[in-house]
Amino acid sequence: MTDAPFIPYGRQDISEDDIAAVVDVLRSDFLTQGPKVPEFEAAIAAATSAAHAVAVNSATSALHIACLALGLGPGGLLWTVPNTFVATANVGRLCGADVDFVDIRDNDYCMDPAALQAKLASATRKPDIIIPVHFAGQSANMKAIGAIARAHGIKVIEDASHAIGGSYNGTPIGACEFSDIAVFSFHPVKIITSAEGGIATTQNPDLAKKMDLFRSHGVTRDAGLMENQNPEPWEYDQVALGLNYRMTEMQAALGASQTLRLAEFVAHRHKLAKRYDDLLGGLPLITPWQNPDSHSALHLYPILIDTDRTNRTRRQVFDALRAANIGVNVHYIPVHTQPDYQRLGFRRGDFPVSERYYDRAISIPLYFGLDDAKQDRVIEALRAALA
Ligand SMILES: *Cc1c(COP(=O)(O)O)cnc(C)c1O
Repeated sequence: MTDAPFIPYGRQDISEDDIAAVVDVLRSDFLTQGPKVPEFEAAIAAATSAAHAVAVNSATSALHIACLALGLGPGGLLWTVPNTFVATANVGRLCGADVDFVDIRDNDYCMDPAALQAKLASATRKPDIIIPVHFAGQSANMKAIGAIARAHGIKVIEDASHAIGGSYNGTPIGACEFSDIAVFSFHPVKIITSAEGGIATTQNPDLAKKMDLFRSHGVTRDAGLMENQNPEPWEYDQVALGLNYRMTEMQAALGASQTLRLAEFVAHRHKLAKRYDDLLGGLPLITPWQNPDSHSALHLYPILIDTDRTNRTRRQVFDALRAANIGVNVHYIPVHTQPDYQRLGFRRGDFPVSERYYDRAISIPLYFGLDDAKQDRVIEALRAALA
């Protein structure tokens, strides 16, 4: 063990301005359903070149209302990747639909367009929705995935939980150039935070209106949406079955304040990643590939233990780093291997690229507050673990 201070794999950076923004809300008239949520939505819409942004209390909620807005329900089918957080798949089941997976590519660790094409060619049931995940902040191959989906009449949601501040094919992630809806997470480990929170962006006003309804009970006072043609002044109409997924004003104020530093956050992540790229060269590791079509938001820096060049196991390296007080983590345990998915009939072996990636992966620290000295500690610990 060591006395050296703990270095997490990711963490938030909160400024005095962020704190002041939240305190101002606490002194104001609105803790919820006030002006801050629309302000945060406008900031994210501007940052992503999206026409509409709908803020909710988590990315999980955003994925859920995105599926509902696209009409997913019992009898429906959603496909995503195994290399994601469980929420991406779970939302399909929460809609009453079935879920299946498409394997990843072994360079960007995102949905493999060739595997998608092959699975569609032999599928007896076509999915209604596919959800590619922009793993580690780097866009999936959306040109290819979008073209395949369009040809088959399949809707596309981008799980961009890792990717706010990134771009692809020259446009910001969230502009939905090759998708219907994109979803971002503002959990504290992500690029910017609202403590808990998520946003769905879209260019489609109809989908935005539906998501707005689903986040708040399916209830509206908008004359254009009300079915009651002659409402009393106090009346609202429930026109759909919705939930309470609303974001609070404190969360939105924090998110809006953090958005002002989005470019700075992403630039620092790039500086740190470049340093890792340079200083980890020569070790028996595979460092993350950067797709030239993509400017990653660099949420994660996942390294793979190169088992052809070392007989150290992932577990040995993981344990050595944890013993050095470095909070490494593993992203992701393939979703289909979770007990709750095994009960549905999925088995290890079903998605070999995701499994082989997972078996070797470790996410090493990458966050705004990581400085050169702390990063050097991570590199030295890795060097020692692999020596
Ligand atoms: C974090 C994350 C989610 C869930 O985000 P919450 O805001 O915590 O609900 C979903 N998908 C991916 C890929 C994530 O990383």
